[in-house]
Amino acid sequence: MPDKIAIEKKVLSENDLLAQELRTKFQENKVFVFNLVSSPGSGKTSLLEKTLGLLQDKLNIALVVGDVQTENDADRLIQAGGKLVRPIVTGGSCHLDANMIHKSIQQFNLNEIDLFVIENVGNLVCPSSYDLGEDMKIVLISTTEGDDKPLKYPGMFRKSSVMVVNKTDLLGFSDFELHKVKENARQINGQLEIFELSCRTGEGLDTWIDWLLEQVILKKKEI
Ligand code: MG
Ligand code: ZN
Repeated sequence: MPDKIAIEKKVLSENDLLAQELRTKFQENKVFVFNLVSSPGSGKTSLLEKTLGLLQDKLNIALVVGDVQTENDADRLIQAGGKLVRPIVTGGSCHLDANMIHKSIQQFNLNEIDLFVIENVGNLVCPSSYDLGEDMKIVLISTTEGDDKPLKYPGMFRKSSVMVVNKTDLLGFSDFELHKVKENARQINGQLEIFELSCRTGEGLDTWIDWLLEQVILKKKEI
């Protein structure tokens, strides 16, 4: 029997090849793509609902939404006004892979899209190993979690370009400390861009939206 590590390496390298193909496609169409990762319940779907609300008059936004079961989150994003929302029900897999994204982009005309968002399955472990052809991974953490999460899941924080801290309206109700999570995250990845916001109150969303819009514009200018 071939050993488990050898199989895993093979799966990952096949994934990387396909991810490279996806990246080329996104690049040709000048679409900015981010892969949103977090633990379950940090607020990925909430952040995307707010983002849709604030940006959908300005940009054509496509969203693919991964969940192990149910299309509930995709339905929420359609409710929030998303016109190009596609669920990916993994049926057990705890991450999205490039093959799933490859299948799902057949349903879109990339030419007409400015921003392509991938909401990954809630999991801070294996999604870090799967390149989906994105421009960047964005890791979301909320103030109801431990502020040592970057130290516990360093792979994810190392692979991400941005960390968004959600639920800042609940600061003070737990032992979570903003300065600690930032220190821990920067210890793992000194390049991390950090946003602090509350999807519930809207605090901090403007800074996030301005930054995102800038990324989309920069992407269009890329040759
Ligand atoms: Mg969700
Ligand atoms: Zn997994």
